[in-house]
Amino acid sequence: MQKYIEQLNEAQREPVLQKDGPMIIIAGAGSGKTRVLTIRIAYLMSQGVDSFSILSLTFTNKAAREMKKRISDIVGASEAKNLWMGTFHSVFARILRSEADHLGYPSNFTIYDSQDSLRCISGIIKEMQLDRDVYKPKQVLSRISSYKNSLITVKAYFNNPELQEADAMAKKPRLGEIYQNYVDKCFKSGAMDFDDLLLKTNELLTRFPEVLAKYQNRFRYILVDEYQDTNHSQYLIVRALSDKFQNICVVGDDAQSIYAFRGANINNILNFQKDYEGVKTFRLEQNYRSTKNIVEAANTIIDKNKIKLDKIVWTANDFGPKIKVHRSMTDSEEGRFVASTIWEQKMQNQLHNGAFAILYRTNAQSRAMEDALRKRDIPYRIYGGLSFYQRKEIKDVLCYLRLVINPKDEEALVRVINYPARGIGDTTVEKLTIAANHYKRSIWEVMQNIDKIDLKLNAGTKNKLEDFVTMIQSFQVINENQDAFYITDYVAKKTGLVQELKKDATPEGMAKIQNIEELLNGIKDFTEGQKEIDGARGALSEFMEDVALATDLDKDTSDEDRVALMTIHLAKGLEFPHVFVVGMEEDLFPSAMSMSTRSELEEERRLFYVALTRAEHQAYLTYAQSRYRWGKLTDSEPSRFIEEIDGQYLEYLTPEENNYRYKPMIDSDIFGDVDKSKLRLAKPIGGTPPSASTSEGGVRPDSTIRKLKPVASNGASGNANLFDNKLVAGNLVMHERFGKGEVINMEGIGADKKAEIKFEVGGIKKLLLRFAKLDII
Ligand code: ATP
Ligand code: MG
Repeated sequence: MQKYIEQLNEAQREPVLQKDGPMIIIAGAGSGKTRVLTIRIAYLMSQGVDSFSILSLTFTNKAAREMKKRISDIVGASEAKNLWMGTFHSVFARILRSEADHLGYPSNFTIYDSQDSLRCISGIIKEMQLDRDVYKPKQVLSRISSYKNSLITVKAYFNNPELQEADAMAKKPRLGEIYQNYVDKCFKSGAMDFDDLLLKTNELLTRFPEVLAKYQNRFRYILVDEYQDTNHSQYLIVRALSDKFQNICVVGDDAQSIYAFRGANINNILNFQKDYEGVKTFRLEQNYRSTKNIVEAANTIIDKNKIKLDKIVWTANDFGPKIKVHRSMTDSEEGRFVASTIWEQKMQNQLHNGAFAILYRTNAQSRAMEDALRKRDIPYRIYGGLSFYQRKEIKDVLCYLRLVINPKDEEALVRVINYPARGIGDTTVEKLTIAANHYKRSIWEVMQNIDKIDLKLNAGTKNKLEDFVTMIQSFQVINENQDAFYITDYVAKKTGLVQELKKDATPEGMAKIQNIEELLNGIKDFTEGQKEIDGARGALSEFMEDVALATDLDKDTSDEDRVALMTIHLAKGLEFPHVFVVGMEEDLFPSAMSMSTRSELEEERRLFYVALTRAEHQAYLTYAQSRYRWGKLTDSEPSRFIEEIDGQYLEYLTPEENNYRYKPMIDSDIFGDVDKSKLRLAKPIGGTPPSASTSEGGVRPDSTIRKLKPVASNGASGNANLFDNKLVAGNLVMHERFGKGEVINMEGIGADKKAEIKFEVGGIKKLLLRFAKLDII
């Protein structure tokens, strides 16, 4: 243990050794927050804290697995395996299963994914005969989701005239009823959606004090990574559970809060000090991940945000290469640039594919990248997007399996009751649904009692329904004694699913069969793995839990060496030696949908900060002058975020931009009422540098509204070097942004020379002289 603690720097060691009490670690990207959490858990265990009593909440289950592995290396696997670790959703799903009866739910409840929820909502809108163009299922679902995440139950909704009025104003006066029906349907189906996992946990902890007490006593130490992205519901759970012992350690970076659109509340981190008594705050300042160029450039970006905690991030790493900026004509050319650069880098520097990541703002951008990578035979993996488990043929198998575990699961039932076709038509399903609604029971229960209810079905249809019930029941019997692999294989064959797919001899059809094989391989892997643990049998229910709660990153099970493609949102917490941030264009990044208010724009900027700080050694920013969007070739301008980076950290790869860079003349943050379509970027003409009249302060004759600013050819800010050797403690200085201050200490030499300055406003800051914009006064 000692060895691991010694490897930490002093600032990191302190929070590790601080065993008890509430504490928060606020620090920038790459400063070792996750590492501190990991070592802290190992340390707690070495101090005699029972591993069963430590709860650690991470952003993905993959992160939890990696953490657990590190901890196993330190304290031994047998101890580490008892730790409660995972995402909020997976940890609390586990708790909800064992406490389900309190809430009237079966412990084998199904977890609906967003596809199931959407289908369910669509069904309700249809049943209520509402206009789908007004009540758009996606919008309705997202509204309901935000109610749930704010803990607004159906009852609370109907007690709140303001909410009802808001929905009525939005032309959706019956939203409350849809909400009510959705909740009822889920309940009857023994199903919870993703938001329910948090909502119901809150309900459980508030309504049943004895349950709360039980988990408060169990989880004596609670740790939360990426705390800046917790939503209100998660916040309340953490508060409740930690209330008794107050041994709560949260880590986060307000500059990386990027999930506000899903209800994350940055105030959770900003207000932590107020929530607990005697909070110890720790700050980590040294970045170990990235080069100086990347760290400093990222600092210049986040400085543009107004809502933020003041933080210092510096690194002792090398300067490294500058951030490379590349412009291409089209998105396909952008793809070719990325693929050929990866190829060259691999050859020149003997790098493996896993050293590269391509990050984008929206999933749709992956296509151009994929095409280019395929042409160069570079293996890649896409994270997110339509996941494997959501492909039709896979989901069909999974829905049968869901019925084996919980036959009341209505979404699963409706999906497969007549697939493969067995003569149970839509009219029959409709009759069943109406009866189920009438008796407030599930369709399954109606089917089981088909003889007692008069549904006006003919004898043939009744037989078919009975056959279906018998088939599912026979699967249930087999499932009692067999592992997940056996039952899945059996179900895929007995239901006729495989035979059905075999009828289709096209390449697409064959690919579907291969996918089912792939699913079976995955399940085989899972059951074998499970069987190694304490004689577990690799039960279907365990596998299904894994599938339901897998986050997009978790599907990465193989160790094949591939280039990673993912959205920036998904890349949070990860690191790669080489990172391409592609599609650096106005309206794409920042997204056109997130530019109307300052806070939206600031969130986009934080997203860019996250993207850039994933890079360890080399970052590339690429943009295309035109790209297909919504089927139309659209012109695009470089993202303002490129311009916001201090020019000294950038290297333009496309020749005519080597000499100067663009700078917006207006405060590009505030477009206010300005018609954005009128904003055009000054384009350099024929590679000639701007003439004196158009540089610095000049407006180009063609009345474009951005000014051009020359950048010092050595790439460094001129004034800083000027008194690199002159500045001493006691000097009074003026900083471009921080204002007046007094130098209190100098440290480092040469390019690493830093001044510690006490500013009149903003307190003490350590600035790297090479970059600081200072004047002696
Ligand atoms: P993010 O904000 O992106 O989540 P983080 O603050 O969680 O970043 P980590 O991922 O814990 O940072 O650490 C970043 C990198 O620096 C990791 O590769 C980690 O192993 C390394 N690192 C952290 N602390 C040290 C240290 N004291 N010595 C050497 N390497 C370190
Ligand atoms: Mg981290």
